[in-house]
Formats: sequence, structure tokens, C-alpha cells
Amino acid sequence: MKKELFDFLNTDLQFVKGVGPVLAARFEDVLGGRRVLDFMLHIPAYIRARGITENVSSSEPGEIITIPLLVKSHKPGGTFRGHRRPTQIICNDKMGNAVVIQFFNVNFLDYWLKKLPIGQWRMISGKLERGTRPTINHPDFIEEMQNADKIPSIQAIYPAGEGLTQKTFASVRDQIFNVLTDKITGETDSGVKEFFDALRRVHYPECAEDLSANSTYIVKLAYWELLAHQTAIVISRRNRKDVRNRRSVRQKKYDLVDKFYTILPFKMTGAQTQTINEIFADLAKNVPMMRLVQGDVGSGKTIVALAAAIKMTETGAQTALLAPTDTLAQQHYAKIKPLCDKLGIVCDVLTGRDKGTVRREKLVSLRSGRTKIVVGTHALFSEDVEYKDLGLVIVDEQHRFGVSQRESLRAKGNNPDLLALSATPIPRTLSMTIYGDMDVSIINEKPAGRLPIKTTKLPIGRIDELVSRLKIQIDAGAKVFWVCPLVEESEVSDLTAVQSRYEELKKIFPHAGLVHGQMDKKQRDKVMAEFADDKSDMKMLVATTVIEVGIDVPRATIIVIENAERFGLAALHQLRGRVGRGNLQSYCILVYGNNISEEGLKRLEVLTETEDGFVIAEQDLMMRGTGELLGTRQSGWINYHFVDYSRHRDLFKLAASAARDMSEPDAWVRDLMFVFDRGVGISA
Ligand code: ADP
Ligand code: MG
Repeated sequence: MKKELFDFLNTDLQFVKGVGPVLAARFEDVLGGRRVLDFMLHIPAYIRARGITENVSSSEPGEIITIPLLVKSHKPGGTFRGHRRPTQIICNDKMGNAVVIQFFNVNFLDYWLKKLPIGQWRMISGKLERGTRPTINHPDFIEEMQNADKIPSIQAIYPAGEGLTQKTFASVRDQIFNVLTDKITGETDSGVKEFFDALRRVHYPECAEDLSANSTYIVKLAYWELLAHQTAIVISRRNRKDVRNRRSVRQKKYDLVDKFYTILPFKMTGAQTQTINEIFADLAKNVPMMRLVQGDVGSGKTIVALAAAIKMTETGAQTALLAPTDTLAQQHYAKIKPLCDKLGIVCDVLTGRDKGTVRREKLVSLRSGRTKIVVGTHALFSEDVEYKDLGLVIVDEQHRFGVSQRESLRAKGNNPDLLALSATPIPRTLSMTIYGDMDVSIINEKPAGRLPIKTTKLPIGRIDELVSRLKIQIDAGAKVFWVCPLVEESEVSDLTAVQSRYEELKKIFPHAGLVHGQMDKKQRDKVMAEFADDKSDMKMLVATTVIEVGIDVPRATIIVIENAERFGLAALHQLRGRVGRGNLQSYCILVYGNNISEEGLKRLEVLTETEDGFVIAEQDLMMRGTGELLGTRQSGWINYHFVDYSRHRDLFKLAASAARDMSEPDAWVRDLMFVFDRGVGISA
């Protein structure tokens, strides 16, 4: 790949025309990164055909139609006797049938009315609803007749993102692929060309088949993705053998681990002890450790990791604990610091927030070897960060980092040990293929005293009942998460659903807080911190799915998940893990809509029956492929972009053997490794 193309793929999305820092941050929430490449790897979930019709009575309710309409009159909405009424725009089609365009959100009223002036024809596209008259709520497109061709006849629908409409996705895609056309001319590697051709086709699908797991394009991309991954595994396995004797460097100098056990306010679970033993055995070997600890949210991975860090401290060497976000880094630090203080271990935190003198002092302390345990974000592997003797690298939420990021931190030490932590339960049948380079420990036991989370499903019609029960619980001191999913692919802001729910709930719970992806991160952190604070009055947090994995609010005992049928099992399991983190009885209420499918009900059933992430993951793999979920491909257990485990089993074998047979990856395979090495992007 030419440098020019490489640089383009690495460009921060905020520099793409029409994006800017605000949208780039929103993209980062959905894409898990903010490079042009991250966008390219986020492909549409399905297509929507927008057939043109001239006669509304020839279409069925629920159909997406594109239709020329003559605007007859405006009926502005508002609040009447406490009831909100939508704005209605009454139109006629060419046959003279009345069609009502309806807007619920009155914030942009003038804007809509201007777009639909009385007496003029407009081409309008949206979902036809049954009402007393044919109705289109919040049309997806409104165009003047001479611009009618701006409405795509086949529209690629991207997995939703907060504050990102389908139009935004389409226009960013157009920008990116236009520039790509330039950058790719002169590229000589046929692999590179073939790759981007396939990628272009899935971003501009011509039929539904193009996006199916069996399409030639998806199969190619999935194979390349697996090849990149398997090659990385082969390389890291080869590197690992190539190590001199480290035992002389790792002489035990102090006794800290025993003391550590005595200061803990609890006893380790059997699974934690077992895992710690496995880690300690690795640390005593010549070959550096490469161990993955898998355990559900709340299983106590942090303490296990800390035990490893303390063991490392006994030899005088340092440990770096890498977390994917600022909040999580601070949270780890807050937990670890008091324990380290008691043991006389110098512990510190380093994130992008640290600037100037503060940062300089922290770096000096790391370089001198005074700081023994440092917790932080990407800041930990910035170029100017030096360690005296980095002996252990711990990566939390390891799937959020790329192999190269992990390795660039390891490169700051002399063959340090690696411990990766993951709350994503990969079924046993899969973990060998996926984590072939790592040894795996599993923590499948919750700390003693944890009660199982009582999980129930509830139809949306019974929400009033739920609210009155919540009121009793909250008055008794409970804290509640209330999660609303995004409204996908609508012209209106995605916020409507969560905001109007928030407003309703606020009437009953006046101190309720709200977080969503369109708030800036600082504001979001502030609200979350207030919710986490035991002394605050904020007992309910209404949120979209931006509430972070791993966020620890032990007093939060209830989580309500609205439109639960729209989430995959992986997402639901992760969301549920926000509660049940203390010794109090916790509850998860899965609220589902009227249109839930049989498949959807089955999914919810699985959750009411078990809390074991491994069982849920196995079930999920068996039930895959309904296509009704939000962001299906990306929100699973395994973070592949194109690979669908249940449909691409053969590709795993092919890619693994190709990778094994390779003596040295050629330029093309190295390009693939760059493309598919997932990381959290370039912002610190
Ligand atoms: P994870 O990272 O696996 O989600 P944490 O390490 O954050 O879990 O642990 C969740 C909570 O359980 C923390 O408050 C931690 O102090 C506590 N904890 C960990 N191990 C035990 C244990 N053996 N007994 C009781 N509480 C524990
Ligand atoms: Mg954790």
C-alpha cells in the first residue's frame, strides 16, 4: 500500500469534509475508532428499497414509499390541555388521495413548514403508516421535484449511531470513497485494489444479496480479516519463543503478596485463586506470559490483575495497566490506590488529562522506577513515556485495543509479561481459534454473597405498573438505570425517544439524570459521577447505550432495558452487568415492544434463565442471523467486522492454514494486518 493511501486511511474523521470534531466524536462512539479506516470497516446492515409510487392507495401500511405530494394545508402542533399534539401537513397525491405528513418533534417546526410550502409539489419518502388517513411520520427525505433524484432508489442502511442520521452516514461515505478513488490510482498491488473494490461494493450495495454473509464480497473480506488475524497470532507465537533467560532479572526482593491478601476486605473466590496460581506459574517461566483472563463483569478481574502487579513489584519491576477510557482508568486507580498505599507501593495514574508539570513529574517518577504500578489510557505508550523496568503489561477490555497497540506498550519493557482481561465470554469451542496466541484462564464464579440478578420480561403496555414499583424501590434507597435504544434511521434526531422518556420519568422522579451520545464527554462523565455518588439525590439514570462497560455503581440494583428485543444477547448481557455488583438483590427488567418476534422472545427467555455469559454466548451463536438487531455484526461477542462465525466456519480453517504456511508475511498481508488490527483510534 502506498504511503499516500495509508495516510488517508489513518486520517482523523474530523478532517473529512463536513464532519468536524463533534460528529467525529459521535462516530467514534459507534465505530470504536475515529479514523477514515474505522468508517470504512463499518458497513451497512441492510438495504432499503424506496420504490416510487404515484397513488398512495396502491401501497400497504409499513411499506417505504417515495411519492410526489402537493401540500394543501398546515396544522401546527402544540400542547393542548396537557396533551402534546403533532404537527400535521395535509397533502394530496396525484390521484387526489389525502396523505398526512406528521411531525412529533416541534423543535424544528419552522424548518419543516418551510420545506413544505402550501401549494407546492414535493417528492417525499418515508414509511407509510395506517391512520384514519394514510400517514407518513417524519419522512426520511423531502426534496423539491427537480431534486427528486437525490432520493436513492436503493438506500444502504448503516447500524445506528447516536446523533448520526442515515444521511450523515451516506454523505461521509460519499466523501471518503470519492477521495479513495484518487488515492488508489497508481496503486500497483492487485490485492489492495481488489480489497477496496469489495469494500466499495458493500458500501454501495446494488441488491440485498451484496450484504449477506454469502456474498462474494463479504466472503472475500471475511477471509482477509481472518487471514490478518491468524497471521498476527502466528507471529506473536513465534516471537514468544525467542526469549533469553529472564529469571536472573526477576529475582524476588520483597514479600508483598501475602500481606496483600491480609489487607483485602474479602476472600478471593476459588476461581480467582486458581487464576492467580496460573498467572504466578507463568511469571516464574522463562517465556513471557501471554495470558487472557475471561470473566463476566463483576467476577473480580481487577483484584486478580492487581495480585499479578504486586507479584511483579516484589521483583522491583514495574506494571502498566492499560484501560480503554479515562473513566475506567480513574475507576481502577481509585480502587487500587488505597490498597497500594497500605503496602507501601507507589501507584499512579496517567491519562490524556495530565498536562504540563503534572505530567512531567509523573513521567520522571516512571523513568526513575519510583512508580511501580501505573494505570492509564493510551497515554501509557506515548513516545515520551519511559519505564525503568516495565515487567508486566495488563490490558483491560483487551478487545478494545489492537495487537500493535498492545505490542507498542510491551516494547517499552524488556520482553514484559502480558495479562489481558476480557469481560466477553467467548465460547470454549471458539477461544482456541480466536485467541490462539494466548493461554486462557476463566473466572466463572461470582464473589460470595452475590445474589443472582432477577431477570424478567415485561410488555411495554405494563410500563405504568413498573414505574410505580420502581418508585417504592427508589424511596427505599435503590438506584436505577433506565436504558433506551436508538431510534434507527430517522430524519429526526435520535434523541426523541430517550428524551421524551426522560421527561415523563422526571415527573415522577424529579432528580433523574440523563446521558446520551450527543452530550459532550465531560458533561456525560459529570452526570455519571453524580449518579455513582452515594450521597447524591440522583437515583435514576436514563441513558442510551453509552453507559460504559465496567462502570461500577454498587448501589445500582435495577436496570430497565426498553425495546430489549432490539438488542442482541451480547449487548443485553453486558447491559445487565451494570447491576448486581454489590451484595444487594438486583433486578433486570426487559421491556419489549408489541412487534416482538418469536425469535426475539426466545432471546429474552435465554436471559431470564441464565446469567452465565458462556452459556448465553453459546446460545447466541446458535440463534444468530435474524437481522432485526441494532448493529448486528459489530455488537456480538467477537469483534469481527465481516466474519460471521456460524456462516464462515470453513474460512477459519483456510485462513489458519494459510497463515501457518507463510514463512514471512508479504506486503499485502502486512497491509491486511494494519487494516484489521483493531484499536481505539488515535485520540488519547
Ligand atoms: P470485573 O473487572 O471482573 O468486572 P471487578 O474486579 O471490578 O470486576 O470487581 C467487582 C467488584 O467485586 C469490586 O467492587 C471488587 O472489589 C469486588 N470483589 C472482587 N473480588 C471479590 C471477592 N472475592 N469477594 C467479594 N468482592 C469481590
Ligand atoms: Mg473490569
